[in-house]
Amino acid sequence: MVEDKQAKVKTAEAKDNVTPLRAPVKCPECGKPSQRAFYPFCSNRCRSLDLNRWLSGRYILPGPKLDEEEE
Ligand SMILES: [Zn+2]
Repeated sequence: MVEDKQAKVKTAEAKDNVTPLRAPVKCPECGKPSQRAFYPFCSNRCRSLDLNRWLSGRYILPGPKLDEEEE
C-alpha cells in the first residue's frame, strides 16, 4: 500500500512583504532618505517645517488676482 503523503505545498506566505512601493527620495528639508510614513519627508518634523513654510506664505500660490482696493 502506497502512502501518498500529500506534499504540503508551501504557500507563498506574504510575510514581511516589504517591497517598497516607492523608492526613498531625499527629504526636501534636510536631504535624508525619506520615510514612507512621512513621504516625501524623512520625519514629521521636516513635514511640519514644509507645512509651516506654506502657511507662512513663502510659497506663491497661483490663484485669482485680487483687486487691490485701497480705501
Ligand atoms: Zn528631513
